[in-house]
Amino acid sequence: MSEKVVGILGGRGGQLGRMLAASASLLNVKVVILDSGEHAPAKQILAPTAPHLAHLDGSFADPDKIKDLSKKVDVLTVEIEHVDAATLDEIQNSSTGRALAIHPSPATIQIIQDKFRQKEHLKSHGLPISDFLGVESTVGSVEDASQQLGLPLMLKSRTLAYDGRGNFVLRDAAQAAAAISALGNRPLYAEKWVPFTKEIAVMVVRSANGEVKSYPVVETVHKDNICHLVFAPLRSRDASICHRARTIAENAIKSFTGAGVFGVEMFLMADGNIYINEIAPRPHNSGHYTIEACETSQYENHLRAILSLPLGSTALKVPSAVMLNLIGYSSSMAEINKVVDVAINTPGASVHLYGKSECRKGRKMGHITVVAPSDAELRKRLRPLLQSLPSSSQ
Ligand code: ATP
Ligand code: MG
Ligand code: MG
Repeated sequence: MSEKVVGILGGRGGQLGRMLAASASLLNVKVVILDSGEHAPAKQILAPTAPHLAHLDGSFADPDKIKDLSKKVDVLTVEIEHVDAATLDEIQNSSTGRALAIHPSPATIQIIQDKFRQKEHLKSHGLPISDFLGVESTVGSVEDASQQLGLPLMLKSRTLAYDGRGNFVLRDAAQAAAAISALGNRPLYAEKWVPFTKEIAVMVVRSANGEVKSYPVVETVHKDNICHLVFAPLRSRDASICHRARTIAENAIKSFTGAGVFGVEMFLMADGNIYINEIAPRPHNSGHYTIEACETSQYENHLRAILSLPLGSTALKVPSAVMLNLIGYSSSMAEINKVVDVAINTPGASVHLYGKSECRKGRKMGHITVVAPSDAELRKRLRPLLQSLPSSSQ
């Protein structure tokens, strides 16, 4: 399929790298992973194909390790946006006489990994976002922002955020000091509160020459700031919503450089307006459903894009699909195993377990995708799965 070796800067969870590696193995594409976990989820399923292609132990933030990885591969990509993008940029600009592609581009990763810069970028390209402001980590500056944007106010850490860790909802200006300390005195910005009716998302794949293809619009349901369910496709009485959401997502991804899949998280308002929340420059939780439900999964399309192969069809191949995240409830897998036992007996259900070394409360341990011939049948298949969750999580 391709002789090129792909290097993945892996990290934190490791499930995206694992699913990318699984997809690469189907295409017989060689992959080398850099991850600080010796038994990282992606390393477990992909044995090195040659001694010089052995996986690396180390961090996506360690310049030396990233350089070591770059020497082994033809294409570098990421499963997380919090990587050391300056080192990627340096590697791209250093003329070693050897062609090394980095996807998405270091410039794209640099913009996206700083949420404030990301918002400025989207604004400058005329894309719909809610109002936002830069703030200093001082009580006065946060109070100012709450005066200008109103309450509640969404205070966000500019960098290193995930699963809502890095967000603080300021309901009263008197909480300013508490918010700053809760966010760890990191660089911050503020967003106007968006009273959305639904959260929706679109995966977009972009080839190196700028061609984009979007996947269907999905509805994402969050619980405690973590994605809980994803329904594909979005059902809505206003047929124009899906078309507009896909166009916004495609235009957003056209504005960046480099190849790969991108997740575009959006807010749908009661009046039908759509705002972009944030963009992930990589495969995304809201695109897991594509493995079973679409003609080409987000993982395969990511590989196709970064290897300069033709992009695959993004169309749904089933009428209805849902993805349920399996989030740790405690240090034990017992609760998750109960759901898995039900899924094993559910028609159309596919179980994905990520092989993480430890289960922890709030940690993504796996997911289940269910496909069905109709929405009604999907709901019927999903119900026993939800009922098998601990009651606080249904
Ligand atoms: P992810 O795990 O998706 O990377 P994150 O830590 O980057 O999450 P965000 O996506 O910025 O966090 O926010 C988490 C959730 O908080 C959103 O899915 C949404 O439910 C809510 N949220 C974010 N921004 C706003 C806003 N401006 N107004 C209202 N709710 C918001
Ligand atoms: Mg995020
Ligand atoms: Mg998000």
